Amino acid sequence: MQFYISWSHSDPIYSDYFDKCNMLVSPTGVNGFFNFGKWVNQPKNIIIDSGAYSYLNSGGKPAIQKDVFCKQIRIAEGLKSKALICHLDHPINPKNNDQTSAFHAVERTLGNAYEFMNLYKTSKIYQSHRIEPMATIQGIDYESITFCANELKRIGYNNFGLGSLAPLYNPSEILKRIHYASDIVGAENLHVFGISRIDLAKELFLLKVRSIDSTRPMKAAVHNTVFYSSPFRSYSISEAHKGRYKKLYKTLDCHCPICKTNAQQILKVGSNKYTKARAVHNYYHLSEQLKIVKTSLNRLKCPKV
Ligand SMILES: [Zn+2]
Repeated sequence: MQFYISWSHSDPIYSDYFDKCNMLVSPTGVNGFFNFGKWVNQPKNIIIDSGAYSYLNSGGKPAIQKDVFCKQIRIAEGLKSKALICHLDHPINPKNNDQTSAFHAVERTLGNAYEFMNLYKTSKIYQSHRIEPMATIQGIDYESITFCANELKRIGYNNFGLGSLAPLYNPSEILKRIHYASDIVGAENLHVFGISRIDLAKELFLLKVRSIDSTRPMKAAVHNTVFYSSPFRSYSISEAHKGRYKKLYKTLDCHCPICKTNAQQILKVGSNKYTKARAVHNYYHLSEQLKIVKTSLNRLKCPKV
């Protein structure tokens, strides 16, 4: 299972620190001039999503599929890595998840998916084997999720993502929806948007889900929180006025690229430089913990005789 770090302009360029880093970007998370060709160290794999969630929450004019596609093409300029680009989907608000709202969201999602596939097949990136289209499945229950997934397959998609899970807090509901989607499209073809909880990671590895993504390393860094792995834990840094977690006054043993050179940076506040340093450190530990979960499952599968 691949892990993608969600990236926006205020975040550190994780691929400058980690050569195997996969990255997810949104047209709404970068400025109008951004493209990957400007980066010396490009991520290994990239997902360019539609930014649908930000459009929906902005309260502004609804996004138009063609405009979003043009922005995605611009972001992909100069790209040497493999990339998946997503059509504009219509996320479902968990506070408003009645059958009618879900039906409308699925209908709009499918309409955009159809238009996106036509745009993709007539664009210059169609010839590139590096950039493939990815469909986003929407839905709230067995009927809506399986209907949406089957229709997206029929349009011709081979890569899929499952949306509207991040605002859900109930692990069994999240897993139920992932099961519905993977039964139709195959877990090995499914990306799960916005889920990187360690308590769910084991289940997602067992299911053989293709990939997940997260904004957690930077979000935690902004909130003056640092992660450590093995076991996974969070601390609030001592300079923070408030904190959810036990205070950390001294850095612990760490082999991340930041701590190897100047570990004190992750405990400081007052500059974006320190927030970015914390985000790199947090990314390292979230990635390490996912590797630990994977290794522990492999050991269970292959007991020593
Ligand atoms: Zn570190």
